[in-house]
Amino acid sequence: MLGTIAKKLRMLGFDTQYYNTINDDELIISAKKEERTIITKDQMLAVKAINQDIPTIQILTHTEKEQMIEIAHKMSWKKLTLDNPRCSICNGMLQKASKQEIIGMIPPKVAELVQEFWQCDKCSHIYWVGTHIRNLERLIAEINDTL
Ligand SMILES: [Zn+2]
Repeated sequence: MLGTIAKKLRMLGFDTQYYNTINDDELIISAKKEERTIITKDQMLAVKAINQDIPTIQILTHTEKEQMIEIAHKMSWKKLTLDNPRCSICNGMLQKASKQEIIGMIPPKVAELVQEFWQCDKCSHIYWVGTHIRNLERLIAEINDTL
């Protein structure tokens, strides 16, 4: 399953759709229409997609870090950043939000300790820099070292 990779790609700012129930033909039609690259572990799907001239990355590695590095290399990305993140849940764009705007929607302890917030313009989910982001920053640094 590449679901956690999809979430990370969104946080890195890449416009990413994730499907785990769609059939191959529907996925190929959707990728063609939206001009997307298919990233998959499924060899059958990769072959079908390549035969339809869809840019396709067949993931061959196993750990999340290896898979992220594999994608970054095959996409020829030079440097990953968190400068323009998307919502990991819905792929919406994140906008800076002031603490006043979202104060009732975050845990009091977070409101006390954190100054910077972002909110999804589609699903309204609120983000701030916590352990999750710091772990992602560490992973990005390790990946950038290989690019
Ligand atoms: Zn969202």
